Amino acid sequence: MLGPVILAASRSDRMRRLVSAAPVTKQVVDRFIPGETVDEVLPIVRELTGSGLELTMDVVGEDITTPEQAAAARDAYLELIDRLGPLALGTRAEMSVKLSMFGQALPGGHERALANVRPVVEAAAAIGTTVTLDAEDHTTLDSMFAIHEELRKDFPQTGCVIQAYLFRTEADARRLAADGSRVRLVKGAYKEPAEVAHQQKHEIDKAYVRILRTLMEGEGYPMIGSHDPRLISITQELARTAGRKIGEYEFQMLYGIRGDEHLRLAAEGHRMRVYTAYGTDWYGYFMRRLAEKPANLRFFLRSMVSK
Ligand code: FAD
Repeated sequence: MLGPVILAASRSDRMRRLVSAAPVTKQVVDRFIPGETVDEVLPIVRELTGSGLELTMDVVGEDITTPEQAAAARDAYLELIDRLGPLALGTRAEMSVKLSMFGQALPGGHERALANVRPVVEAAAAIGTTVTLDAEDHTTLDSMFAIHEELRKDFPQTGCVIQAYLFRTEADARRLAADGSRVRLVKGAYKEPAEVAHQQKHEIDKAYVRILRTLMEGEGYPMIGSHDPRLISITQELARTAGRKIGEYEFQMLYGIRGDEHLRLAAEGHRMRVYTAYGTDWYGYFMRRLAEKPANLRFFLRSMVSK
């Protein structure tokens, strides 16, 4: 019940100001967002890759309102890629980007987001890695998929995300599986209306398994973005049935969630990628993490009261 309320708050400017100014927020935020600058996050990159994990890096931010902010987002990724280059991690450290942060919702937003994201994809390719386009709310997805298709003409490894809760996703998955795309499948983290999305957890989980089967049986590279133990074991079964070996798909989880499981899967030889977000504009990302697990919110509120 709490999830939708928190997701609604994640879009409220008033809540953003309140939560961001709370004195104890930072220590709770740090669990999910281990730094505000490239300098703060690079030691984490070294630590995680040193333990056999792979990374997808997210400079937090979304829903920007000016072209200057969109250009700044592009530049923040370019700086990150510049600093990752000397570590020579190749695809062990890729980028995740939200197109809303690149100006997708501004006038002329589709073209602007494409123009801003292209140099990031080019810079990533120049250091031997790639970019995955995150999925945001359903109104943005036609544009995201069109940008994905456009980028793939020059950079076929560019990935995208699909969300099991949306009705449209089974068709999207068939198309992406047939054209050999890198696709991250997640349950979906936004507040979506019943006209476009499953609302019940068990319906979302069933859709996830159907879509996962499509991806496993297709030509592309499936990336399983979930912490759900049941889906992790179903993934391994479906991979076996589809004749995929370890390394022909990968697991992905968020930094700060089920860290032991990251290491367990990596130790079993799986490709295990940790989505590592950093930056100052963490509010939307943080609120979605609270919405996913009400215990996180209780912890957050308790730490505010105990100060
Ligand atoms: P759940 O059923 O939600 O969780 C399973 C178990 O995982 C829980 O019981 C709990 O133990 C643990 N867990 C899950 N979430 C939390 C949490 N916040 N705090 C503590 N424990 C938790 N969504 C999008 O809409 N677009 C994206 O582009 C996107 N990218 C993602 C990238 C990655 C790598 C991952 C892992 C998720 C991404 N998500 C994205 C979020 C996703 O949609 C889900 O909201 C999120 O992963 C929770 O779903 P779950 O599959 O882990 O299953």
